[in-house]
Amino acid sequence: MSEQLQIAIVGGGIGGLTAALALRARGLNVTVFEQAGELREIGAGISIHPNAALLLQRVGLTDRIKTIGTPIAGLLLRTSLGEFIDITMRPSSGVQSYNVHRAEFLKLLADAQPDGTLHLGHCLSQARETNGRVQLTFAHGATVEADLVIGADGIHSVVQREIGLKTYPSSEGIMAYRGLVPSERLSWAKDIGGKMSMWLGSGRSFLCYPVSSGRLTNMVAFVPTNLESEESWTAPGDLKALAAEYAGWDDPVLETISALDQTFRWGIYDRAPLPYWSTDRMTLLGDAAHSMVPHLGQGAAQAIEDGFTLAVLLEGAKRQDVPSRLKAYERLRIERTSRIQTMARDTGRFFRAEYEDVAERDRFMAKWMSANGQIRGHDAEQAAKEELLAANDSGSI
Ligand SMILES: Cc1cc2nc3c(=O)[nH]c(=O)nc-3n(C[C@H](O)[C@H](O)[C@H](O)COP(=O)(O)OP(=O)(O)OC[C@H]3O[C@@H](n4cnc5c(N)ncnc54)[C@H](O)[C@@H]3O)c2cc1C
Repeated sequence: MSEQLQIAIVGGGIGGLTAALALRARGLNVTVFEQAGELREIGAGISIHPNAALLLQRVGLTDRIKTIGTPIAGLLLRTSLGEFIDITMRPSSGVQSYNVHRAEFLKLLADAQPDGTLHLGHCLSQARETNGRVQLTFAHGATVEADLVIGADGIHSVVQREIGLKTYPSSEGIMAYRGLVPSERLSWAKDIGGKMSMWLGSGRSFLCYPVSSGRLTNMVAFVPTNLESEESWTAPGDLKALAAEYAGWDDPVLETISALDQTFRWGIYDRAPLPYWSTDRMTLLGDAAHSMVPHLGQGAAQAIEDGFTLAVLLEGAKRQDVPSRLKAYERLRIERTSRIQTMARDTGRFFRAEYEDVAERDRFMAKWMSANGQIRGHDAEQAAKEELLAANDSGSI
C-alpha cells in the first residue's frame, strides 16, 4: 500500500472542489466524487469576500476569477424610500473581492481539477470505517477505499449521517425571491460602478449586485413568510407577489422587479452548530458542517476556509496522524463557524428591522461593519499553521 494518504471528497460543489485544489497544492492525493452526472449550478450570484479571495489567490485562481467576476467596489445602503445610510467600509485586507455567477465559478473550479480526479455520477449511499480505512459505497454499486473521507455533500449530507450526526432545519420566518436581470435593462445600475446595493426596511431587504463581468445583475429579496417554504433554491416564484411585497419602495427596486423575466423562491432555514464534525477518518466541510443563513454572504467562503485549513493540517501527515489532525481541524473551525452562523442570523434581523431612532441604527451599523471586517480579514491558512505549532508544542499531535 502506498505511503501517501488517499483522500476522498464526497461532493463536487464549491466546498469540495476548492478543498481538492488546496489539498493538492500541498502535495496530497485527492479524488472527488459528485452525485450529479454533469456539474450544474443555479443561476444566481455569489460574493467571494476577501477571506476566500485570499486563499483562492494562493492556488493561482485570481486571473481566472477576474475573467468571470466583477470586482466589488463597496456597498451602498439605502432605506426602503431611497435615503442613503452613511457607512464606511473599512478595507479588511488588501485583497480584492469579486461577485461571480455561481455556474461560471463552479465551471472554473471544475476546469482547474486535473484529469481523472473528479468522478461524476457517484452518489454516495454508505461510508464504513474499518481497520484504519473507510469504504465508500455508491448508489450504482461501485466501492472505493480511502484513508480519509471529507464530506462536502451539502445540507442533506450522507457523510454527516454516516458520522452519526443529524441537523434540523428551523425557519427564520422569511423567504427570499431571487433572480438575474440583464444589467442593460436597469437605468440605475450604470451609476453605481460595481458597488453592491441594498435597501432596508419594514421587515424586508432587497439586495442587487452585478455578476458575469457586469452583464447581469443578481437580485435577492428577503420577505417575511408564515408559510413553510421548501428548502429549495430553485422553486419557481410569482413576479406579481414579489412586486406586491415592495409596493411603494424606492424606484430602482421597482424597476428591477419589473425588469425580471422570472424569479425563484428560496426558503431560508437555519441549523444549530454541530457538537463535533469528525470520526477518526471522516470529517465534514462547508454546508454539511455548518450551513448558515445567507445574510453575511459567508457560506461558500467558510467552506473554502475549511478546505484550506484541512490542507495545512494534513500536509505531510501519515495515516496514523489523521485522527489527531481532524481533532485540530474541529478545534479551529467549529468555534469560528459557529460564531459566524450566529452573526449571519443577527445580521438578517438587523437588516430587516425598522429603526425609529436613526442613531440606534447607525450604532448597530458601526458595530456590524467592524465585526464583518474582522471576519473578512481572517487568514485561515495562517490560523491553521499556528494551531499546528501549538498542537506540536503541547504534544497533542
Ligand atoms: C442563492 C444563494 C446565494 C448565496 N450567496 C452566497 C454568497 O454571496 N457568499 C457565500 O460565501 N455564500 C453564499 N451562499 C451560500 C453558499 O452557496 C453555500 O454555503 C455553498 O454553496 C456551500 O458549498 P458546499 O460545497 O458546502 O455545498 P453545495 O454547494 O451544496 O455542494 C454540495 C455538493 O455535494 C453533492 N452531493 C450531495 N449529496 C451527495 C452524495 N450523496 N454523493 C455525492 N455527491 C453529493 C451535490 O450535488 C453538490 O454538488 C449562497 C447560497 C445561495 C443558495
